[in-house]
Amino acid sequence: MSNSLIIKGLRGGVAGGEILTGVDLEILPGEVHALMGPNGSGKSTLSHVLMGREGYESTAGSVTVNGVELLGLETWQRAAAGLFLAMQYPVEVPGVRVEDLLEAAMRARGSQVDGLNDRLVSEAQRLAVRDEFLTRGVNVEFSGGEQKRAETLQLAMLAPSFAVLDEIDSGLDVDALRDVARRVKAMTQEDGLGVLAITHYSRLLTELNPDVVHVFMGGRIVTSGGPELADELEVEGYDGLAARLGIEIPEPVEFNRADPFSHRTF
Ligand code: ADP
Ligand code: MG
Repeated sequence: MSNSLIIKGLRGGVAGGEILTGVDLEILPGEVHALMGPNGSGKSTLSHVLMGREGYESTAGSVTVNGVELLGLETWQRAAAGLFLAMQYPVEVPGVRVEDLLEAAMRARGSQVDGLNDRLVSEAQRLAVRDEFLTRGVNVEFSGGEQKRAETLQLAMLAPSFAVLDEIDSGLDVDALRDVARRVKAMTQEDGLGVLAITHYSRLLTELNPDVVHVFMGGRIVTSGGPELADELEVEGYDGLAARLGIEIPEPVEFNRADPFSHRTF
């Protein structure tokens, strides 16, 4: 199936430190997959390795979007292939407005930029993003909620095939969470957007209504199920779920950021 995001046997992490220990996942257009897991299990690392962020590397496996192999490509090429990442901690870009960023991204993949401003203004209204955030540097002095609305705005404007949303619900108040989740849900239904939503909270999942819930521990998916899995997690916690299902919890990879080789035994 070429119209899909397919991750096979993905291993990798940061230079010298393996964090992902074999990730397998397939997402079809219009599907919402939730990825839940304890802090430090490698969820954000997965998002960075998928997008090819500087400092992160893959050591084995493959990642394809609509049949295009992403591993080895530059980040902008992965975006052009149809992958979007809303980062857990968005980067500030002083002096570059959201519109500039979008125009550059669209030109890079050969999309039409005529009428961009009109589309941006109407999308901003839909997401309750105030005009001043369109004219300031991207994410500069945005509150957590404003950042996440602005990320969702970029997602809606770029209309990728697949989006990884890394804790897009963290730090959001109830109204912002609802606005963001509903916009994302509409994209899955109207445009066939496929979503990998990394989250701790079932509130986001209530809005997004995922097709599949995956539990991530020790750098890989240890079990997958329907939305009921998120409810079970809420009650049992990760340890409880792992014990009941007889899953060996892989040891968390702990290593010193200053010396990523320190956890290794040669
Ligand atoms: P999660 O998002 O599931 O909380 P992360 O992917 O952020 O987990 O982190 C997984 C592990 O990888 C942690 O032990 C973290 O300290 C380590 N790690 C992540 N990014 C880096 C980095 N750039 N340099 C060194 N260690 C990192
Ligand atoms: Mg994280």
